[in-house]
Amino acid sequence: MSKEIIDETLAIAGDIENQLKFYADMGFEDLGGSALATESAPTAHSTESFSAALSSAGAPAVAQTTQTAPPVRDEEAAPQTTSQIAQVGLFGESVAGGQQKRGGLALPVRESLDPSLEAIREDIGDCQRCKLHEHRKTIVFGEGNPHAKLVFVGEGPGADEDATGRPFVGRAGQLLDKIIVAIGLKREDVYIANIVKCRPPGNRTPERDEVDTCEPFLLRQLAFIRPEVIVALGSPAFQCLLRTREPITRARGEWREWNGVKVMPTFHPAFLLRSPEKKREVWEDMKKVRDYLNTRPS
Ligand code: URA
Repeated sequence: MSKEIIDETLAIAGDIENQLKFYADMGFEDLGGSALATESAPTAHSTESFSAALSSAGAPAVAQTTQTAPPVRDEEAAPQTTSQIAQVGLFGESVAGGQQKRGGLALPVRESLDPSLEAIREDIGDCQRCKLHEHRKTIVFGEGNPHAKLVFVGEGPGADEDATGRPFVGRAGQLLDKIIVAIGLKREDVYIANIVKCRPPGNRTPERDEVDTCEPFLLRQLAFIRPEVIVALGSPAFQCLLRTREPITRARGEWREWNGVKVMPTFHPAFLLRSPEKKREVWEDMKKVRDYLNTRPS
């Protein structure tokens, strides 16, 4: 048997093992046949574009979902600017007077225009821009591969993250780790961040002013990393990134787009801990992500 065939067989065996582990971790006993079958690459359902979402004035009231709805954003609000910041587009192009926006978005940045993750962290400093700083212990900036093809975006740090300064290290984080392994990746391969970088007291949903204050830093992180896929974990992450009020229950599993980056909305791992019967749906969503990353044209 040639080395190539052996390598390929080992890779397939590893993949199957990962999937079986994932199912075992998820608590599935009856694996059946179909769930393990590899699906063909998903078609991008081109849904609401980011700019369309931004310009959709008069959005309906927040729909009830099985997760707590996030703060409602003013869909037409101008990007935040201060005398200290300059405007650049998401991918670094200059934006005169905040008018030239790519995908409807202009990012506030410091005059240095240094796009690196280190510079973003430096800009955050010992942040006291919003009230979340009053109770936080540690700023949770985000971590992972700065050149990741896949970024997970959650809602905000919990107690474990606040204590350690690392995203998704509590029970929900352990489940996220399993999800990452199940799609054949390691935690170090991906990047993990949150909509807000300080723990909301009592793990409440971040409020609108907190999201508005913190989000520009996440946008800069995403602009630097330029992933191929963003997985939006839960309603607040999805609704905040996509500037939409669509419930995650309706959006999950459908490809969306954010500034030219594919977005897969899915349930938050913390929600899965409370509603384990939803794990199967997340697995379906994650298979789409895995298959896209494995088959996308380079
Ligand atoms: N939940 C989140 O949304 N983010 C974390 O970092 C941890 C839990």
